[in-house]
Amino acid sequence: MTQKFKHLLCVETRNKRELHRAGWIMVDAATLIENGYLEIENGLICGVHRGRPEEKSIDHGPGVLMPPLVNAHLHIELSALKNCLPFDKGFKFWVKTLLEKRQALGKKELIKKARDAVQDLIQSGTLYVGDISTLNITGPLIEDSGLKGIFFHEFLGSDIPDVFCLKNDSVSFSVAGHAPHTSSPQLLKALKKSAASKGLVFSIHVAESDDESEFIRDKKGSWADFLTFRGIDFSSWQIGSKTPVSYIHDLGLLDFSTLAVHLLNVNDRDMDILARTKTKVCVCPRSNENLHKKLPDIERMIQKGIQPALGTDSLASCKSLNMFEEMAFVQTHYPGLDPETIVAMSTINGARALGVEHMTGTLSKGKKAQLLYCPLEGLNKKNLLSRIISNE
Ligand SMILES: [Zn+2]
Repeated sequence: MTQKFKHLLCVETRNKRELHRAGWIMVDAATLIENGYLEIENGLICGVHRGRPEEKSIDHGPGVLMPPLVNAHLHIELSALKNCLPFDKGFKFWVKTLLEKRQALGKKELIKKARDAVQDLIQSGTLYVGDISTLNITGPLIEDSGLKGIFFHEFLGSDIPDVFCLKNDSVSFSVAGHAPHTSSPQLLKALKKSAASKGLVFSIHVAESDDESEFIRDKKGSWADFLTFRGIDFSSWQIGSKTPVSYIHDLGLLDFSTLAVHLLNVNDRDMDILARTKTKVCVCPRSNENLHKKLPDIERMIQKGIQPALGTDSLASCKSLNMFEEMAFVQTHYPGLDPETIVAMSTINGARALGVEHMTGTLSKGKKAQLLYCPLEGLNKKNLLSRIISNE
């Protein structure tokens, strides 16, 4: 894919009045203004107008000014594992190889490649991220780079750690539980409580693998054997005859400030639970196809009233962190989804998933002056969104 994306502008720190015009202004995926301009004052959007400004303005050209993209789930720390892991030998083998190779690479190399990945993210129009880090190494990189969003320190197992949570306008620090089958219920509840006490989003992978579903449903199987082998006593875990979603719902983990990621193995009842509890959802279709040869049922989620965000997962399971490429994949593999929905997934839905929708996700009055310009030509109302998605 040729990269047509031109520039990401963060003018929210400038204390002056500026007008930014372009051939098109995308206020949100459903509101496209031909030949318009944005009025910015003290770093905030204070007006969206039609026509050409009479005062001096910054003219970006015939393309589109739009909200910056949100990659709501990724693991920047795994960037050094790009092209290192096999996708055709099963999920367990992938996880095992990932852990071995991550250990062998060492922190220095992981940080070096993570730094490159952060630059690639910015270059490809992503400003907000929901970054998961088990090794707790990418927070400072994100802060220094100008990326925004949430850094999630991720935990698994059963030890209850001391955690650091901090809410910020730029980068917030929160916590994530790895998954229902890898983390004790006590740990998951403690992490959720820590995040909630600071008004922060808590993240968890859920309903991703068949092993996970089998373990939560049957309380036995190969995952149960693995935990027993590792000396982890799960006898008190209240699993059995449950789906991963219903299990973590019973633990009290699902609400508007939990971000549930993947949801490959969910039934209608699970979707009803997610919708009713207003749980935020993020899907990572390219990663799912590589690791599980399966895609999440996005159309059904939307019918149920869920508004999924989009993420890439890591370079260990997906060939890029580029949100344009993730959107293009969704467009190809979900012919039932309209371009408006796909663009909303990577803008406003992502912003809601990270709890930053008061600052970004749309170019409307009161939001931060953070803009993305795509220099596309020959646009009209009909082709604009699909041209953005294919970025050509
Ligand atoms: Zn993940």
